[in-house]
Amino acid sequence: MQAEAAVATLVDPQTLMIGALILLGAPGAGKGTQSKFVSTRYGIPQISTGDLLRENVRKGTQIGIQAKSIMEKGQLVPDEMVEDMLARRIETGGDTDRGFILDGFPRTLAQAKWLDEYLKKWSVRHGQAWAAPVVISITVGYNQLLRRLTGRRSCPTCGRIYNIYFQPPRIADLCDNDGSKLITRRDDCEEVISERLKAYERQTLPLTEYYRAKGSLHEVNGDQATDEVTAAVMGILENGDRL
Ligand code: AMP
Repeated sequence: MQAEAAVATLVDPQTLMIGALILLGAPGAGKGTQSKFVSTRYGIPQISTGDLLRENVRKGTQIGIQAKSIMEKGQLVPDEMVEDMLARRIETGGDTDRGFILDGFPRTLAQAKWLDEYLKKWSVRHGQAWAAPVVISITVGYNQLLRRLTGRRSCPTCGRIYNIYFQPPRIADLCDNDGSKLITRRDDCEEVISERLKAYERQTLPLTEYYRAKGSLHEVNGDQATDEVTAAVMGILENGDRL
């Protein structure tokens, strides 16, 4: 892959200690797409709180029942509910020894502070690499975000993400990998999108300042081609661009 050639690495990426990697960015910034790449290259799990919540909604769990109507309005689910769900996933997955990617978490200052405390406890048990997260903020212009969100489709079977404007499947509406019929997320309709972007600006954008002040923020221009964004992310994780 082009992005891989762009970053020379002397170590096997599957042995690197990544620690907690936070991908920050508005809905549609490409966090999910980059997470999937990072997950495959480094062999660490992508933990998307949105995916975990949607799974709970599908299964009709207690969390799912409470979260469903909040998510349909494009608002944020209460911090404590998401924090408990996330801690359970990190601790019971059996796949987080070298690190994990947080996609969609933290989304509020309270969640960021909770995560700091949580990682401090992890660093005592698992070593110093965990003490501070690596934070990568992917920034994308507003109009571009709208097109990405309204055009987003995903495969319910393998999770691959498409965009009908920028990265359409070979056959309309069908996944290239397994032929499943692609789906549109319920909250990717225009009305809910605008609510989600407002929630992002109000509650999540201030997190970039929080992490900048701590010296752990890396910014990547998400308006570039996907491969270029990926190369920038790899540069941060492998080439010592990490703070
Ligand atoms: P996402 O897939 O990350 O866009 O998340 C979809 C929806 O799930 C959001 O609009 C929220 O309603 C909810 N959600 C996901 N992650 C969080 C979080 N960290 N805190 C609160 N709500 C969340």
